[in-house]
Amino acid sequence: MRLAKSIVGTLEAEAVQKVLLDDGFLGMGQEVVAFEKDLADYLGHREVEEVVCVSSGTAALHLAIAATCQAGDEVLVPSFTYVASFQAISGAGAVPIACDIRSDNGQIDLYDAEAKLSPKTKVIMPVYYAGDARTREPIFEFAKEYRLRVVEDAAHAFGSFSQKKKVGETGDVTCFSFDGIKNITSGEGGAVVSSDKTILERIRDTRLLGVVRDSEKRGAGKRSWDFDVLHQGYRYHMSNLMAAIGRVQLKRFETEFVKKRQELVRHYHACLGQLTDIEWLTFPDKSIVPHLCVIKCMSGERDRLRKYLSEVDIETGIHYKPNHLLSLYRQPNIHCPKSEQLYRQVLSLPLHPELTETDIETVCNRIVHFYGR
Ligand SMILES: *Cc1c(COP(=O)(O)O)cnc(C)c1O
Repeated sequence: MRLAKSIVGTLEAEAVQKVLLDDGFLGMGQEVVAFEKDLADYLGHREVEEVVCVSSGTAALHLAIAATCQAGDEVLVPSFTYVASFQAISGAGAVPIACDIRSDNGQIDLYDAEAKLSPKTKVIMPVYYAGDARTREPIFEFAKEYRLRVVEDAAHAFGSFSQKKKVGETGDVTCFSFDGIKNITSGEGGAVVSSDKTILERIRDTRLLGVVRDSEKRGAGKRSWDFDVLHQGYRYHMSNLMAAIGRVQLKRFETEFVKKRQELVRHYHACLGQLTDIEWLTFPDKSIVPHLCVIKCMSGERDRLRKYLSEVDIETGIHYKPNHLLSLYRQPNIHCPKSEQLYRQVLSLPLHPELTETDIETVCNRIVHFYGR
């Protein structure tokens, strides 16, 4: 049984075929603009200009940091995240400051973030671990108090809510990932969402080598020949092929995926709720579209459980190895003890919309059996 999976089928194939055979323009063009419009509508009827589709979630974060930081500026980021968050920050010439997380939900610990503030701190990058964005409000209050920008790594949290608003509906700069196993996929892809016109204009340009206003032209099927460049840019645009997949996925997300992911997590909780050897980092809450289903193994047997499950063909994962333990990001004076403890405890169980309740029961029976020995 697989841990995660792209859920794509004939609808996505037909949409790609249409781009290939009817349109024949595979680069960034009208299909991308249409996807940006669909996303803007989905995110509480934003303006289409407020959504910029790019080639990956990492690209979205990289461009967002490049647009909000100067070289040497510091970014507060939880250590307990995918290395993409850190790479995006350092790639833009800023410095990731690894913050510890709360053991009860895997989200950035604002007390530790406060202790790690410096005159160089410009941005806080929360990561909505496993899709839980309920910590969003205090993070924005913290940012307001210390005059920081908020670049949200919402790679796990597409479709999740905080205080009745979707992640990306309001805020500062929100970044999504549409890679193969995220809540929706466009093959590879991502998006930056903001209402800051300066940031948006800059990111629109920097996704395409910094060529000023090239995005608008390409959206209208044209190109720039006599152009100017103001900023370092990248080839981070989204292609029409990717956008075609993303548009189908967005429709299926609302009708199929949200409900399915939430049901599966509820079922996990129902089947394992009695077990005292585990705690949870994924919660059956209506505001959350769970991206991962993470348990904490409290009796120190995570690796044995993982091995036991793999022997019966149940794939599991470990999200994540804290970034401050990686050679590139190690610093003598940076400590995140709770991240290190969680790293030893966490186990991600299979979660994707093609699993059935019977599959969940199979996994749970194995776990109950393991702890019952
Ligand atoms: C997936 C992910 C990213 C990066 O997204 P890509 O589209 O894979 O580049 C960033 N942060 C987190 C927490 C992720 O899970």
